[in-house]
Amino acid sequence: MRPSQFALLATLVLALAACGKHEEPAPPAQTSTPPPAPPKPAPVVPSPEGRSSPDITAEDFAARVKKISGDAFEGRKPGTIGERMTTAWIKDQFEQVGLAPGNKGNWFQTVPMIETTLQEPESVALDVATKNGDERLAYRADMIVNTLDASHDVSIDGSPIVFAGYGVVAPEQNWNDYAGLDVKGKTVVVLVNDPGWGNHDASLFKGDALTYYGRWTYKYEEAARQGAAACLIVHETPGAGYPWDVVVNSWSGPQDALPPREDPAPHLPVAGWITTQAAQRLFAKAGASFDALKKAADLRGFKPVELDAKLSTHFANRIDNLSSENVIGMIRGSTRPDEVVVYSAHWDHLGKDSSIKGDGIYNGAIDNGTGIAALIEIAEAFAHQNPKPERTVLFAAVTLEEAGLLGSRYYVTHPAFPLDKTVADINMDALPILGPAKDIAVIGFGQSELDDYIKDAAAVEGRAIVADETPEKGFFFRSDQLNFARLGVPVLYARSGLDLVDGGEEAGRRLYADYTVNRYHKPADEYDPNWDLRGVFEDVKAFYAVGKRLADETTFPAWKADAEFHRPAAGAKPK
Ligand SMILES: [Zn+2]
Repeated sequence: MRPSQFALLATLVLALAACGKHEEPAPPAQTSTPPPAPPKPAPVVPSPEGRSSPDITAEDFAARVKKISGDAFEGRKPGTIGERMTTAWIKDQFEQVGLAPGNKGNWFQTVPMIETTLQEPESVALDVATKNGDERLAYRADMIVNTLDASHDVSIDGSPIVFAGYGVVAPEQNWNDYAGLDVKGKTVVVLVNDPGWGNHDASLFKGDALTYYGRWTYKYEEAARQGAAACLIVHETPGAGYPWDVVVNSWSGPQDALPPREDPAPHLPVAGWITTQAAQRLFAKAGASFDALKKAADLRGFKPVELDAKLSTHFANRIDNLSSENVIGMIRGSTRPDEVVVYSAHWDHLGKDSSIKGDGIYNGAIDNGTGIAALIEIAEAFAHQNPKPERTVLFAAVTLEEAGLLGSRYYVTHPAFPLDKTVADINMDALPILGPAKDIAVIGFGQSELDDYIKDAAAVEGRAIVADETPEKGFFFRSDQLNFARLGVPVLYARSGLDLVDGGEEAGRRLYADYTVNRYHKPADEYDPNWDLRGVFEDVKAFYAVGKRLADETTFPAWKADAEFHRPAAGAKPK
């Protein structure tokens, strides 16, 4: 969907809304005249370049989102000219608003990476041999594959195919989809998500809420630990939280990872996804029913099933050693400079695709032009704040988020300040632009005392906080705060709620779904001059308020007792 259509939809939503937040219910209409629609806000005129206000303003925010999502930045793909332009611009912005270099005297932190590029992808296939004949899964239409262990040549011949349910080994849940099975050299086919989702059973795992076991990262890690040669995840849109074309967009083209020396866990030679239809065809050819086995996998005590099918595939990769840059600035604390509050937002996006006719630039205006614009706005507010923050405030524009949270993963193992002196990470990613909302949604609500901080900041704006309304999509595991959380730093990951002042939850859901379906990870994620920025402006001010309070306190907010994450005991090695 193009921005003009988005504006039209927004206009329709506004026109449907009968009354605003603080109004009394309208008396019954005396005539058939419809109640007046709330006035549509005038479009925000972006500030002229170099003329930003010290305050957080919608005009500055608009200017910065527009700039960083412009075609000139070519979709901000790490390792491209788009990266050089983007990181230079962010560094200039940090400098202009008054930050100091944040990485031990440097603006940049070099993140080493390897890039694996599947050669001649359109000729790559997964060939499945069964006694009922062969089945060929075609690249893109049926499947997508990559290599996670930096192999140049991948050759799998007649690897037995095993259906391993959700591919989960969770001792605390007494659940083991690999029970009694040796999958060394075999091809593991697994379901997306986890058994709690499959059963819609709140007593299993976290019910519909996604756990780390439901993430593709976990499934590939576990299959590699089990010694599998290949792992194929069966895609379905509700369980994954996104449609097949998102899988294709994310997994085709060069794939980035930290080098093996930075990440010594085992990695798979073949990691991929297949569509549900392809799985049904493959299983049917092998004389099994995918749908029946999928149901069986939901039940406790499920045993993995070796199919009467063998997989072969042969392809080549190009492996390039590259690097990308985190951009890091800071305001030194006035009284406790060794303690640090971190704001993070990823600058990278998906680049451009010349195979797309017309506009092939993934501008990433929402994802994550909004987060970077917010980061700079908040930096500017801190830099002009009087008195200065007592603790250091660090602004990390991290790279390689889209590639698997690599820039933040590298940062937390090479932090500018020790993690035990890192008070919190406030991460901003893909701030929704929906218009003013009555609430702020906390992703991963209930994990730490930072919930109370954002609650207080929201209350100042007359807003409430709510838990993430789609915990089944696992957004908590899908952005850079996860790497801070895994090493014990409490995190805040929040964004506008969906209960809109104009149109309530119905309108909020509709607008958010419209973004997810029509623009998320697509070239259509573009800056729109007609955006209603009143809501996101309030969100950014609330994130500033949380960091400001943290920066002037002496306390370290704690994880809640039942959180999945904990600060490591002094001297302990992180898990
Ligand atoms: Zn993002």
